[in-house]
Amino acid sequence: MKVFKFGGASVKDPNAVRNVSNILSLFGGQKLMVIVSAMGKTTNKLELLVKASFDRDRKIYMALLDDVYDFHIHILGELFLEKHFAIYNQVEDVFEKLRDRYNEPLPDNYSFEYDQIVSLGELLSSQIVTAFLLEQGHSASWADSRKLIRTNNNYQEGEVDWNKTEELIGSNIISQFKQVDIQVTQGFIGHTPEGFNTTLGREGSDYTAGIYAYCINAESVTIWKDVPGMLNADPKWFDNTIKLESISFKEAIELSYYGASVIHPKTIKPLQNKGIPLYVKSFLNPEAEGTVIQASTTNDHLVPSFIFKMDQILFSFTTKDFSFIVEENLSDIFNRLAKVNAKINLMQNSALDFSILLDRNKVNPDEILELFKDTYEVRYNEGLELVTIRHYDDETLARVTENKNILLEQKTRQTARLIMKEKV
Ligand code: ASP
Repeated sequence: MKVFKFGGASVKDPNAVRNVSNILSLFGGQKLMVIVSAMGKTTNKLELLVKASFDRDRKIYMALLDDVYDFHIHILGELFLEKHFAIYNQVEDVFEKLRDRYNEPLPDNYSFEYDQIVSLGELLSSQIVTAFLLEQGHSASWADSRKLIRTNNNYQEGEVDWNKTEELIGSNIISQFKQVDIQVTQGFIGHTPEGFNTTLGREGSDYTAGIYAYCINAESVTIWKDVPGMLNADPKWFDNTIKLESISFKEAIELSYYGASVIHPKTIKPLQNKGIPLYVKSFLNPEAEGTVIQASTTNDHLVPSFIFKMDQILFSFTTKDFSFIVEENLSDIFNRLAKVNAKINLMQNSALDFSILLDRNKVNPDEILELFKDTYEVRYNEGLELVTIRHYDDETLARVTENKNILLEQKTRQTARLIMKEKV
């Protein structure tokens, strides 16, 4: 059994869905667990829909709903030339419920409502893909992750109950593979013990692929993307990127921890635990090699990797009474930062200063100044970039620091991290 994951871009329009069907044809006769994301940008739109619902803005809510509806109906219209297909009713049903939902009383818990609504993007996508595969003559069936992946009720970031999930997937999916070759299901979503929908965090479909692979002891996972594999840098910030042929689980976790966005960070652990290789391949060129992520670390150092985080803000906290930065005030600083949900990209301390780097678009500097002003002098510097280089050398350091002032630098033998500002 193999697990395939197709993200939003690989099912973004009718041709993309046709392409999925063609890729699956290349694996005729094999048992494939196919995980799909919501189509195109549907998740973003459904997020806005939830917001409109809580803002009690009926006009925006209905406009967004129409937009998402038209988008899916257009795809249906191109894929299924006649309207007698049951899939039309399935899709209409989902939208009917969403229209009615606006008039129902809102729950107190935003995240709960988010999960009930946003999870529908994957539901629609998986239903449409399954219907199309059947129409194309594949041996396929639809599976419901809302009945198979059990999480706690930590809405928007459901934590998987591995024992229960393994039991549910083990008893349903494996026996169903005796009847069909392909099972299509939704990424990103699960259910609570009470049967409510949950989501696993944005971009969580990769993680779903890892969960299924773990539970069915898959021989491999393939994530189909619009890039040829895992690159050593984001082409948005870097010329002449190189594809990584083969890297270890450990290296993949390090890269995603520092911000490489190719694979959802939680995906690797279940695969590493069972030694299941993960392939990242291009859905535009499915026969090409791609990248394999596996246990061996032999090739990790061959190519340096670069991870850029732009628009960073560096805060420095200095104790007003000249007391040292030690465990006590560190825990005080962390407690205060937790109040504003700060996600730290890098930190460093000296005797009297503690510095943290945050994404500028996720913080309000005034709020932080206010929060710390009783005990600390706070300074900040914005418009910065953070670059992390794995397996750096003098040449790579020189390349990224050209025309930059370096504000802070951290190095281990494998990793260099630099906070920089453009020279003016
Ligand atoms: N559709 C979800 C998202 O856009 C999950 C995923 O695509 O991985 O975040």
